[in-house]
Amino acid sequence: MRCFVVFFFIGCYLETISATLTRLEDTVDLTWSFDNDTIYWTNSQPFVFTRKIAEIRRDGVWYAANEFCAGEHGGTHFDAPYHFNKQGWKVAEIPLSRLIVRGVKIDVTEEVELLKDKALLLPEHLEQWEEDNGSIPKNSVLLIKFGWSKYYSNKTEYLGIDQQDNLNFPGLSEAAAEWIVKSRKIVGVGVDTASADAGRDINFPVHRILSAHQIYVLENVKIPAAFPDTGFILYVLPMKIQDGTGAPLRLIAIPHDSDLVPPNLKIVAMSPAVPIYSHIIIILSSVVLLVLYSSSNVPE
Ligand SMILES: [Zn+2]
Repeated sequence: MRCFVVFFFIGCYLETISATLTRLEDTVDLTWSFDNDTIYWTNSQPFVFTRKIAEIRRDGVWYAANEFCAGEHGGTHFDAPYHFNKQGWKVAEIPLSRLIVRGVKIDVTEEVELLKDKALLLPEHLEQWEEDNGSIPKNSVLLIKFGWSKYYSNKTEYLGIDQQDNLNFPGLSEAAAEWIVKSRKIVGVGVDTASADAGRDINFPVHRILSAHQIYVLENVKIPAAFPDTGFILYVLPMKIQDGTGAPLRLIAIPHDSDLVPPNLKIVAMSPAVPIYSHIIIILSSVVLLVLYSSSNVPE
């Protein structure tokens, strides 16, 4: 009996520890700040920030105001479906129900370590993710971590600009985009690179497949090294440009049990991946308990 108690508590302890390690503890800002170094496509108006006024006025009041000018598609930003689909929603038309949503993250950094900028997210990765974590919840945004955020401070490295001025960075495969569309569970896809399409895919097949199904894209997302696969809600807040094909984005992740989570999103919390050994210990402990209990009831 004593043995059971020990096993049971070890099991519970491991269960708690593993849950703590895989859940989001705090609100996380997944946005890069905008400044004059912010990465934009080479054919796009870059972000230009101009200091205009910063002074104490004659009446003693401090007054400061600046100006900025920018294209829609640079830095951490939002691609509306209209960007690649004439019938798609523009930025201001996206329903709010698709902007405050559950988030899931898939990590393909191992693939990127092997294949570098040639790495692609494949349907197999998505299937494996669902085997490990359960089905992706309906109305979710899928964040894809290529581990590319670490290059963000160096535009040449981040975009993988080669001697022919071609871009080289990882992205989604067309087959993965098709898988996402067919799943009918995902309303948006976010990447920690400059585009959902791999750098060399100049025909943007992934953008076209996703936007044909009103799925939006989040680009240059700042995904920290430690970030859980599940258990968080995303606030996807693009600047509300009326006819925007895209817009600068503020993207925030909050723990699923935070007070900031709308009640309708609180109910389903995906169970974080718990190491199998802690389940085994709990099951074994329960069997031992049952055996002990039944044998103690046998009249001597
Ligand atoms: Zn874009």
